[in-house]
Amino acid sequence: MKIFVINSGSSSLKYQLLDMESGSVMATGLVERIGEPTGKLTQKNWPGEAKQAEVEREMPFPNHHAAMHTVVDLVAGQDTGVIASTSEIDAIGHRVVQGGETLFTSVLIDDDVVAKIRANCPLSPLHNPANLVGIEVARELFAGVPQVAVFDTEFHQTMPPHAFTYAIPYELYTELKIRRYGFHGTSHRYVTEQAAGLLGKSLNEVNLITLHLGNGCSMAAVRGGKCIDTSMGLTPLSGVMMGTRSGDIDPAILPFLMKEKKWSMEQVDAVLNKQSGLKGICGMNDMRDIHAAVAKGDKRAALALDMFVYQIKKFIGAFYAVTGPLDALVFTAGIGENDDVTRSRICADLEHLGIQIDQKRNAGRKKSATAVHADQSKVSILVIPTNEELAIARATLGVLK
Ligand code: ADP
Repeated sequence: MKIFVINSGSSSLKYQLLDMESGSVMATGLVERIGEPTGKLTQKNWPGEAKQAEVEREMPFPNHHAAMHTVVDLVAGQDTGVIASTSEIDAIGHRVVQGGETLFTSVLIDDDVVAKIRANCPLSPLHNPANLVGIEVARELFAGVPQVAVFDTEFHQTMPPHAFTYAIPYELYTELKIRRYGFHGTSHRYVTEQAAGLLGKSLNEVNLITLHLGNGCSMAAVRGGKCIDTSMGLTPLSGVMMGTRSGDIDPAILPFLMKEKKWSMEQVDAVLNKQSGLKGICGMNDMRDIHAAVAKGDKRAALALDMFVYQIKKFIGAFYAVTGPLDALVFTAGIGENDDVTRSRICADLEHLGIQIDQKRNAGRKKSATAVHADQSKVSILVIPTNEELAIARATLGVLK
C-alpha cells in the first residue's frame, strides 16, 4: 500500500510517499515560493529507490497546479522517480488545519467534505484555503484514488467544554463557533502514542504534557491518552510565544494599538503573527541564532530566551494541575528535538514537581526517541521526534480500512 501525503501551504507544498507495508519513506519533498518569480523544489529519494538520491529544481511555479504537476512527474519520473507510474499510489492523505465543529476525525474526501472544509475557511483563513487548493488539484490529477483529510484539530476534539469555551458572550460561540480548537494535533497525537509505548503503558493510562516547539509552538495536556487542554486556541496565534507569533497577550492591547498607532486590524494582525514572539523581542526567530547571540552577550536575545523558557514553564505548571499524576513531559519538533540548552532550561528548578533532567542524557540533538530524565525523576522526560507525515498516512490507512 503506497500512500502519498500532501501538506499544502499558502505558497508551499510538502509531500511524502510512504510504503506502508515496509514502513519506509520512499520520497520526501518540498516546493517553496509557489506563485513567486523564483521557486524551488527539493526531493529526497531514499537510498536504492531511484537513480538520483536528491532532486533539485529552481524554477517558477505559477500556482499549486503547476507545482503538483512537476511533483508528480518527478515522483514517477524515469531518473528521479521512486515509482513507475502514479497508478501505484493507492491513497492520498491531506493535512487540513481546521476541521471546526463539523469535521471531527479523518474522513474520506467527497464533495460534501470539501464544502465543509471550505465553510471552515473563516476560522483558518491562512491555512484552509491553501489546503483546499492541494485537495482540488490532487482530486483532478489522481481521479479515482481515495483521498483522506486529516485535521490538525482532531486530537484536541476531546477537550471538555470548560476547556474549549472562551469567557465571552456565549452567543459568539453558537453563532460564529469562536472557541479553542488547538493545532499541531497530528504531532501531539503521534508523540502521545509513541510515549505510551516507551513508557510501557496502554494509551488510555498515560498522563502527559506534550511540547511541540518549532517555529510554531504548542503544548497539550493529555489525560488518559486524550487531549484535555491545549495552548493554541481559535487560531495558532495563542499560547506560548513562538518564532514570530506573540502567543497570549492581554486582548486589550489590540484596541490600544489600533487607537494609539492608528493601525488597521490587518496591521495589528500582521504584527502579532509575523513581527512578534522571539523575533519581536530580539529581531531573530531562529533559536540557533538566538543562542549564538546570547553567547556573544546580546541582552535582548537573552531576554527573548528567558521569556520563552518562562512561558513554557508556566504552561507546564498549569497543565500539571489538570492532567492528574504526570507520567512524562514529551519534547518534539525543531527546538524540542534539537535544542538541549532550551530543554534543560525549561526543566530546570522543577524538582519540586518531580521533574529532573539528566544533563548527560539530554546533551545533543535527538534523532530517535530518547529518555533524558534523571533516574530519581518521578516524571519521565522524553524527546520524541515527531513524524506528522507518517501519522497522516496511518490515519489515511485507518479511514480506508
Ligand atoms: P516548523 O514549525 O516550521 O515545522 P521546526 O519544527 O522545523 O519548525 O522548528 C524550527 C525551529 O527549530 C527553529 O527555531 C530552529 O532554530 C529550531 N532548531 C532547529 N535545529 C536546532 C538546533 N540544532 N538547535 C536549536 N534550535 C534548532
